[in-house]
Amino acid sequence: MVFARKRFGQNFLHDPQVIAHIVEAIDPQPDEALVEIGPGRGALTEPLLERCAALDAIEIDRDLAAELRGRLASRGLMLHEADALKFDFAALATSRGRRLRVIGNLPYNVSTPLLFHLLEARASIADLHIMLQREVIERICASPGSGDYGRLTVMLAPWVIAEHLFDVGPGAFRPVPQVWSAVARLRIRQTPEFAVDARYARVVSAAFSQRRKTLRNALRSLLDAEKIVACGIDPGARPETLSPTQFAALAAVVEAN
Ligand code: SAM
Repeated sequence: MVFARKRFGQNFLHDPQVIAHIVEAIDPQPDEALVEIGPGRGALTEPLLERCAALDAIEIDRDLAAELRGRLASRGLMLHEADALKFDFAALATSRGRRLRVIGNLPYNVSTPLLFHLLEARASIADLHIMLQREVIERICASPGSGDYGRLTVMLAPWVIAEHLFDVGPGAFRPVPQVWSAVARLRIRQTPEFAVDARYARVVSAAFSQRRKTLRNALRSLLDAEKIVACGIDPGARPETLSPTQFAALAAVVEAN
């Protein structure tokens, strides 16, 4: 038995109903390219392998990786002992000849950088089914004006159709975490819902780095109040009240550098 390592965010799923519910939501098909991030002790890996002929998995913990490879390689598991934050998802999609379906009860301590890393590889990804701390799932799926709406929501919005599927209580894991979790489905658009370029990230980061400030103040280094007004947006508004398309409108009038 390999003990849980806190630094890798290890809380292992052990509730059979929750596991079945997640696999049902994914509904894997035999010819798909599934990739699991952080398979741990294989709670999801094993039932997924029963539904599809093969599965790639990326695990950072060397002991868990060795144990899982030994147990499941003969059943179609291709285990990559690697850091998912540095993993080349595009290369894997190329070698599998199709876009990836990404799955993971993700390590909560790296959830935001991991989502941004996956977003960079979006052309190689069909969808994601992820379990995260419930607050993070609520942020991903939030509507403008709600308390959860922020940089993560707006950065994902052009590319992702997000659905909060269901919540999972702490008792489903060992060791028992302090927080509730939730599962979401993120479908990736191959063309963005609205046009964005690098200026979008600059505007969104600046806007939310100063959460309690008005747009006029938060965007001072990028846009003056007249330009904000010219976009039909009140410079006295707070960033969390703007829709993603309004951020795109602001980004379109920022000088490219
Ligand atoms: N999927 C298993 C389950 O549901 O029981 C384990 C989930 S546990 C919350 C997170 C897993 O991700 C652990 O196995 C951990 O070692 C692994 N992990 C943590 N950081 C990682 C990283 N940067 N890259 C790949 N795997 C990572």
